[in-house]
Amino acid sequence: MRSSQELKLKGIPVSPGIVIAPVKIFKRKRAQVKERILKPTEIEDEVSKFTKGTEKLISVLNELKMETKEENLARLLDVEISILNDTEMQNDVILLIRNKRRNAESAISSVFNNRKESLLKHESSYMRERANELERLGMDLIAMINDDYSREDFGFDGIIATESLSIEQALRIVRSNAKGVVTEVGGRTEHSALILRNFEVPTVFGIEKITKLVEDGDTMILDGGKGVVIINPMDSTLNRYFFIKSGYERYESGLASERDLPAITVDGKEIGLYANIDIPEEADRLLDLGKYGIGLFRTEMVFNEYSSDEEKQYQIYYDIAKKVYPNSVTIRSFDVGGDKFYSDYTEENPFLGLRGIRVLLEEQEVFERQIRAVIRANVHSNIRFMIPMVSNYEEVLEAKKIFLRNKKLLEKQQNNVNQPRFGVMIEVPSAVFILEHIAELVDFVSIGTNDLTQYTLAVNRKSLRVSKLFNHLHPAVLKLIQITTDICREKNIVVASCGEMASDPYGVVLLVGFGIDEISCPSSRILEVKSLIRRINLSDAEQIAAEAVKKSNHRAVKDLVGEYLKSVMPELLEFYE
Ligand code: PEP
Ligand code: MG
Repeated sequence: MRSSQELKLKGIPVSPGIVIAPVKIFKRKRAQVKERILKPTEIEDEVSKFTKGTEKLISVLNELKMETKEENLARLLDVEISILNDTEMQNDVILLIRNKRRNAESAISSVFNNRKESLLKHESSYMRERANELERLGMDLIAMINDDYSREDFGFDGIIATESLSIEQALRIVRSNAKGVVTEVGGRTEHSALILRNFEVPTVFGIEKITKLVEDGDTMILDGGKGVVIINPMDSTLNRYFFIKSGYERYESGLASERDLPAITVDGKEIGLYANIDIPEEADRLLDLGKYGIGLFRTEMVFNEYSSDEEKQYQIYYDIAKKVYPNSVTIRSFDVGGDKFYSDYTEENPFLGLRGIRVLLEEQEVFERQIRAVIRANVHSNIRFMIPMVSNYEEVLEAKKIFLRNKKLLEKQQNNVNQPRFGVMIEVPSAVFILEHIAELVDFVSIGTNDLTQYTLAVNRKSLRVSKLFNHLHPAVLKLIQITTDICREKNIVVASCGEMASDPYGVVLLVGFGIDEISCPSSRILEVKSLIRRINLSDAEQIAAEAVKKSNHRAVKDLVGEYLKSVMPELLEFYE
């Protein structure tokens, strides 16, 4: 399997930065789960083995929590602790031991696997990524009951290669000397990814079989911005990367020097710059970066844990709004649907089924609970509320009515109710064509280019088989954006953009050219998007955007914008995909 030849592999870019260093493999021993039918006399011993192991693992996690200085990261461990404390989980395991006479390790494995399988069926990548975390926790618990639990010593001054990373391992890595991390599985929104990003440890996830492709001591180049690793690089590659690395370091310090400057074009148009967040903890990084607001808070994780808990939601929304004040936070209502949260309900084509606003109008109690929590949390008047996936006028009208009705009800119960600004996402082509009517109902819109591309091009955004056809630079997508920005300008409402296009340099030039007011992108891209905006001439961008919509295909658009990018910020093309 292993070769000493140079091998370049592509994974998921998790945390930017270039590292050239020896690699070390960390493999957590996979607990061997042997299924055994217990003798009646063994049953209670096995139950106590399980409960004691659970207690021990909880205390290990609690200890680590105490050692972790950063409160927000320490809180991530609470998720794992609460899974272990969950009485339903514990009862399921104990029932298998007592009723089916299964030994503890196979009972744990079966309960955690069932939960993992149901998470894997979720359409949202966020939920699927939780499945990896759950599996690791189950394995740790099995190791613990078998007295086989050990903590790796990450005291290694190089790149760590591992199958996957738990929150606990990530927390220990950021306190070690490790220079970079590469894993076989994992996704961008995993908590371990968040931790490594927060601590700026260059990281690439999702390089299949990496722990088999390398040996301890092999030289590796890891480019966290591009999601690339190169094993056993040739001298010429090494030299090229030493050069790129020093260029990158200069580039980064250049970006940092603009940290407190506004995102303003050369000819003076200021663009509001905001961050997208998927989990509340991500808001903390914004404070390190400088003061930014949040242009898209995806609340699917909140739905998963607290859809029936108004108080908990209120606390989450209130905390975030307070953190980013005086900037604003745009809270997007739950964008759930398809087969995601109705376990007894599946449909053949979930992306065209019950999703986003369609679910919210069917599940009005859930919707109203969130609306109330959002309105109550708007103490500092810096919250905007946004509805996903709208495709017709009546649903926006209905959602607005529900929103206003709840505001009125709250006014009867408390003083000082501040109505959040109300907006919709533009991500279905039909909404673009009736936007002049929708505009009468909203204070702002935000273009979700991920779904707008999916629904315009009839390309499932998650399908690898058609991923080559998914491109937000397709002239048809650009025309829809142009219509949207034109109508917003005419109707005098704020128009933002929050999909992937807003962090793609080519996309940013075009969005600015179409007249976008605000851009919201992952926090890791904020500084370079700002730096690019500060090099763009609005009049040039307008001209390029006007020409781009006349092109026949995305390649022609890319060439057109690429020429301009090369002239204003060539470094950007060098360091990112
Ligand atoms: C989008 O569709 O572009 C968007 C920002 O929403 P999401 O990616 O959460 O569907
Ligand atoms: Mg969307």
